[in-house]
Amino acid sequence: MSYTEHTGSYYAASANPSPERPPLQGSHETDVCVIGAGYTGISTALFLLEHGFRVTVLEAAKVGFGASGRNGGQIVNSYSRDIDVIERTLGNDQARMLGDMAFEGGRIIRDRVKRYGIKCDLKDGGVFAAFNQKQMDHLQAQKQLWERYGHTELQMLDTAGIQNVVNTDLYVGGMLDMSGGHIHPLNLVLGEAAAVESLGGIIHEQSRVIRVDQGARAVVNTEQGQVTAKFVVVAGNAYLGDLIPQLAAKSMPCGTQVVATEPLSPEMAHALLPQDYCVEDCSYLLDYYRLSGDRRLIFGGGVVYGARDPADVVSLVRPNLVKTFPQLKDVKIDYAWTGNFLLTVSRLPQVGRIGNNIYYSQGCSGHGVTFTHVAGKILAEALRGQAERFDAFAALPHYPFPGGRLLRVPFTAMGAWYYQMRDKLGI
Ligand SMILES: Cc1cc2nc3c(=O)[nH]c(=O)nc-3n(C[C@H](O)[C@H](O)[C@H](O)COP(=O)(O)OP(=O)(O)OC[C@H]3O[C@@H](n4cnc5c(N)ncnc54)[C@H](O)[C@@H]3O)c2cc1C
Repeated sequence: MSYTEHTGSYYAASANPSPERPPLQGSHETDVCVIGAGYTGISTALFLLEHGFRVTVLEAAKVGFGASGRNGGQIVNSYSRDIDVIERTLGNDQARMLGDMAFEGGRIIRDRVKRYGIKCDLKDGGVFAAFNQKQMDHLQAQKQLWERYGHTELQMLDTAGIQNVVNTDLYVGGMLDMSGGHIHPLNLVLGEAAAVESLGGIIHEQSRVIRVDQGARAVVNTEQGQVTAKFVVVAGNAYLGDLIPQLAAKSMPCGTQVVATEPLSPEMAHALLPQDYCVEDCSYLLDYYRLSGDRRLIFGGGVVYGARDPADVVSLVRPNLVKTFPQLKDVKIDYAWTGNFLLTVSRLPQVGRIGNNIYYSQGCSGHGVTFTHVAGKILAEALRGQAERFDAFAALPHYPFPGGRLLRVPFTAMGAWYYQMRDKLGI
């Protein structure tokens, strides 16, 4: 049987020690079988274990193999789409419930880090940086919108203010969220997985699920074993493939690229990002960056629709890195990698149930570090019979991709090109 390692990222190279978890073998029985050991799966498992469920997690590769172990590490609150869209399409009650949850993920992460003593370089403070007045107006409107939902920790930054946070002259201003922040993403999920096991949860790595047999008790099959469970939670996101065809039809895997520079001197690191906040810009195809615990610049950006591996991540990302920080024109890039997130047409996550007992959450559309943690909580609530918050998400419409599975990549790429042009022209 083939063995799948982590991708060659800076995170894998600096991961905290973690045990090898044996593949599933033979027949087993449990309350909940979770498919996928990223934030969604592990967070759900942890909430369930804290409420007395028996849980088995099956992971095709290794804990954190997917987006959760490769992402930009930015704790970005809210969703990839604003709540005003939900207000317009589904009304105020639903928007209120989703709006209330928009900043919950960051609190869950901080609580987990503290409660389980997870070492993941957690830092407070995240900034949205605007290239032009139109983006500033959008941030101002977003601030007012979020404040209507009680999230008052946001602060607008003028040009001098943003330059105090990021030493570049690219931006006209921005918005600071002190309840945002950043983490070593792989070490977060590894720490959460250790917490799962400390509560009696079982995790099998190198255990790709190849079939789920639905029924009053579902049977989840890998090549070498099977788990019979009262409930199944599908948390494979962009790496799920065709396991559950209904989910594949409503979403599209997209690749985004990240590089890590060599460690910077303390003086250079401080000169670039004096407050050590993370930054993402306001473009549709955005750049995101921050300092790692050992002072590397972790810089991500670019989207490749349809989850192709870019031939050369460095040549894709480096030009924007140097444009942002010309001081780094000669910096050495030590690591470069790509990872897949899952895009939905609405850019809102898809949460739901198939039949009576197969639950899923997927498709955070690029901003999932926080929502996946909220998803874990609301899925666990639903399995405990408290489905109000689950129902609020499940009621969101899940649109199929235009062009179907064959044409969704070129159609969406055309849409992205249109927004990229708008970003460039500042309109
Ligand atoms: C490069 C990159 C940068 C990003 N940066 C940010 C950021 O800075 N901030 C932010 O908020 N969001 C970011 N995101 C998005 C965020 O990382 C994701 O939304 C989030 O990690 C998704 O978590 P997940 O658990 O749903 O999926 P994943 O972490 O992808 O986990 C899914 C897991 O399921 C497993 N799996 C799949 N199919 C099977 C199967 N059949 N059997 C068993 N296991 C299976 C996979 O191996 C994988 O480990 C980024 C994403 C990428 C790719």
